[in-house]
Amino acid sequence: MTIINDGLDTLLDTINGMYPDLKDVKIIIADFEGEEGCISSTVFPGDGDIPAIFVNKEISIHAILEVIIHETAHIVRSKESKSCLKKHDQKWKQIFADIEHSFYTKMLTCENKLDIM
Ligand SMILES: [Zn+2]
Repeated sequence: MTIINDGLDTLLDTINGMYPDLKDVKIIIADFEGEEGCISSTVFPGDGDIPAIFVNKEISIHAILEVIIHETAHIVRSKESKSCLKKHDQKWKQIFADIEHSFYTKMLTCENKLDIM
């Protein structure tokens, strides 16, 4: 079987196209619960190594996609400013919106292909 309009595959393709230097970032979907019931977190190793995104496996697939966009925006933002690792400032919001827009545009293109089949 093959999923034609796989949201996770499309999202990773979108992010890797926009930010090729993030290809080595690991996303771990597991029994994760952060501080105050948080459903995701990005761990930035102190040695400057590659960050990892942790996502709670109990949330819906749609929420997982949004969380990956959210955490990816933190990683992209952190490359611009180390003091902005966890902030949701205006630049972070713009990065988030850019990824989200590109992703949903690509998903709509996938859905258009379904009409051809
Ligand atoms: Zn955040």
